Amino acid sequence: PVNIMWFRRDLRLTDNAALYHALKSNNAVVPVFVFDKNILDDIEEKDDSRITFIYRALEEMQEQLLSIKSSLEVYYGTPEEAFKSLLKKHTIERVFTNTDYEPYAIKRDKEIQQLLKEKDISFHSYKDQVIFEKKEIVKDNDEPYTVFTPYSKKWKAALTEYHYKAYPAKKYFDNFHKQKEVKIPSYKTIGFTESGQHMPSKSLDIDVVKNYTSDRDFPALHGTTRMGVHLRFGTVSIRKLIKNAIELNSTFLNELIWRDFFQMILFNFPHVGNGKAFKPAYDFIKWRYSEKDFKSWCEGKTGYPIVDAGMRELNETGFMHNRVRMITASFLTKHLLIDWRWGEAYFAKKLLDFDLAANNGGWQWAAGSGCDAAPYFRIFNPSLQTKRFDPNLEYIRKWVSELDEFSYPEPIVEHEFARKRCLEEYAKAVKAS
Ligand code: FAD
Repeated sequence: PVNIMWFRRDLRLTDNAALYHALKSNNAVVPVFVFDKNILDDIEEKDDSRITFIYRALEEMQEQLLSIKSSLEVYYGTPEEAFKSLLKKHTIERVFTNTDYEPYAIKRDKEIQQLLKEKDISFHSYKDQVIFEKKEIVKDNDEPYTVFTPYSKKWKAALTEYHYKAYPAKKYFDNFHKQKEVKIPSYKTIGFTESGQHMPSKSLDIDVVKNYTSDRDFPALHGTTRMGVHLRFGTVSIRKLIKNAIELNSTFLNELIWRDFFQMILFNFPHVGNGKAFKPAYDFIKWRYSEKDFKSWCEGKTGYPIVDAGMRELNETGFMHNRVRMITASFLTKHLLIDWRWGEAYFAKKLLDFDLAANNGGWQWAAGSGCDAAPYFRIFNPSLQTKRFDPNLEYIRKWVSELDEFSYPEPIVEHEFARKRCLEEYAKAVKAS
């Protein structure tokens, strides 16, 4: 018999919790990945850069595995179909995987676990993509936290070296199942084409971490690490980044804790991932569903240069700086009074580092509807934000080349008018609930 290592958002062979346990187990290990049709069928753009990112990560793993005479087995279909094929090919005793906290993934894993149970195959799921999961960090009354600061304090107090120690999977590489190369299905087979988008490097720029506290809020600087997509697909281990953060920069550590926090929120309050406001009152807001204004925002044509620069950066590169994510999200939900779910969906389509928990957390924070959100009456003023965070207009000029021409479009909504309208509508909703 063999054991299966099922890779999902942990596309690396080093410091991988489930892989380590699989390799240490009783049988040879077959490494498996599934291009899940349920997910792929919902992606509109056939040259989606996330698919290319995953594809390249699989190719890299395949190269390493071939060099030790093993091979990745990549399936295309639903997970159920993939496991049915696997069951035909191998005699399986145990399946190892790393836990995924998204609602779809939880349902998928339950179904696969059930299918395997009928064949007497056990399913083992490990914590790998976060430092603390589920209900590991809770309030004194055992309830999950909904406010970040006390959560982060408890998180830090609970942390020991053990929590970010790397899993030495490499020691056991001999235990991979030996077989000839099993080819990865082509882009065409899975219904995609390769994207030409630039992908951020996997190596962490130590200088960026060192200067993170002073530089991270200025979008014109290379002040953040661009590790988002690597954390999303597990091509870089969170434990490695935590170790760097502890040694070098506490502000950076805090941002990584935000990532754990939103994963914890999504797990304990799954309604937020199903289109519901964390604070129910905010589902009473009378949003403006203006297709026209939404289109101007998406295209970066609002007449507010900082907003337009952010949206154009996103459209062209699949990335947007965090400060500008906050500004553009606030602009959509407060200045345009457009439902945060529209913005959330647009970011989900465009961001290379899209992650349900962080994206939803960020949008609900900006809209005021989230746990520990900005209070609704705090409305970002785009020109003040520009003065503070892009004083020389370097970032704006990079993305909005027509800025200095007299033809720059008029703002689609006037700031003071928008501010008042927002305050009135939000106040009504909060009162009505
Ligand atoms: P760095 O500043 O170098 O931070 C390192 C890592 O810490 C990030 O890669 C990320 O994994 C984590 N992190 C940092 N800030 C946050 C945060 N506020 N919440 C959760 N994790 C954080 N982040 C995503 O990973 N995916 C998303 O889909 C996403 N959508 C967002 C939407 C909105 C409206 C907002 C306001 C924020 C969103 N963020 C999201 C959080 C943050 O903007 C990005 O993580 C960050 O900009 C990514 O760039 P970086 O890797 O250079 O980050």
